[in-house]
Amino acid sequence: MQQTTWDVIIAGGGSAGLSAALMLGRMRRRVLVVDGGAPRNRFAGHMHGVLGRDHTSPLDLLAAGRAELGRYDGVVIRSGEIAEASVIDGDGDGPGGGEGLGGGFAVTLADGERHEARRMLLATGLRDELPDVPGLTEQWGRGAFLCPYCDGWEHRDRRIAVLITNPMYVHATQILRQLSPDVTVFAAGTASGGIELAPEARAGLDARGIAVEERAVEAVVADEQGALRGIRLTDGTVTAADVIFVSATPVPNDALLRTLGAEFATGPDGVDWVQVDAMGRTSVPGLSAAGNLTDGRSSVPYAMSAGSMAGAAINGELVEAEVRAALSNTAPTAA
Ligand SMILES: Cc1cc2nc3c(=O)[nH]c(=O)nc-3n(C[C@H](O)[C@H](O)[C@H](O)COP(=O)(O)OP(=O)(O)OC[C@H]3O[C@@H](n4cnc5c(N)ncnc54)[C@H](O)[C@@H]3O)c2cc1C
Repeated sequence: MQQTTWDVIIAGGGSAGLSAALMLGRMRRRVLVVDGGAPRNRFAGHMHGVLGRDHTSPLDLLAAGRAELGRYDGVVIRSGEIAEASVIDGDGDGPGGGEGLGGGFAVTLADGERHEARRMLLATGLRDELPDVPGLTEQWGRGAFLCPYCDGWEHRDRRIAVLITNPMYVHATQILRQLSPDVTVFAAGTASGGIELAPEARAGLDARGIAVEERAVEAVVADEQGALRGIRLTDGTVTAADVIFVSATPVPNDALLRTLGAEFATGPDGVDWVQVDAMGRTSVPGLSAAGNLTDGRSSVPYAMSAGSMAGAAINGELVEAEVRAALSNTAPTAA
């Protein structure tokens, strides 16, 4: 018979969600991981900065993680999307807060299947909203990247273009300058607008020999094989480039968090991020969040760490609830 009641339901089976499932599975928890199968870095052929897995496929890492979880019979990984979630009060003690061993959350999958769990972890990641430049989407993860630490080294000493649509990305540009003497910033952005470089930011770029192109970007140019070759400007000029780094806007996949009533706050990047403590706990009792869903800067190791912490914290809370329940069961009753 299909099991529909779990200790923990995890939405998202990327680095964060699977790491949490590993901790919980090892503690013999019954865990359902529902995964939409669209990790943020699926566009990249290789993943970097991940110790023991540097320059390997990000999809291979997740496949290995899923295979490892096969050792733990309490963990079930299900392909699909959680479409809806709600707080329930399985045994009258409230979600996550009381002694209750009953349900705290109910979810409905996109195919209509319904499940309940005592705790819930959201690790649904984010999507990157790219500037509206023809040819850019096709290059994402191939000739266009976001993070110097993830993909800069592979382009050392090459012609690096940087499209800045967010002042915070000036810092990333200076990091890229460590890797190549040939860095050009396109600060005028796209035909629909760019950013005004602050005088000190401009001075820093000049001081380190970073070229600043004042004309706006019209398109990313590729050769017949699809490899990035340059940047076309609005006046038709093509500037040769081997790679483009872009300040994408992070859009957290946070619909479930909002439905469940978690608290958000606007970060320095102007994006509304869910508020979590060091163990991934949100403001909603029993509801945790981890990985890129909580922080746009999260890399794979960071997501793994956050998921692992959240998984252990959830298990610890369940143990405490079980101790309280055992104590109340053994307490002497009044004559
Ligand atoms: C082009 C590119 C290259 C990158 N390269 C690197 C790199 O080299 N090294 C590095 O460390 N990091 C890299 N990153 C960052 C890396 O992708 C993230 O840090 C990492 O994927 C975050 O893991 P996560 O588990 O939080 O989210 P994700 O890996 O994005 O996983 C989230 C999962 O949740 C699923 N999901 C979403 N909504 C639902 C739902 N409602 N129900 C069920 N499932 C759902 C998604 O389908 C997805 O499978 C790169 C990112 C990009 C964009």
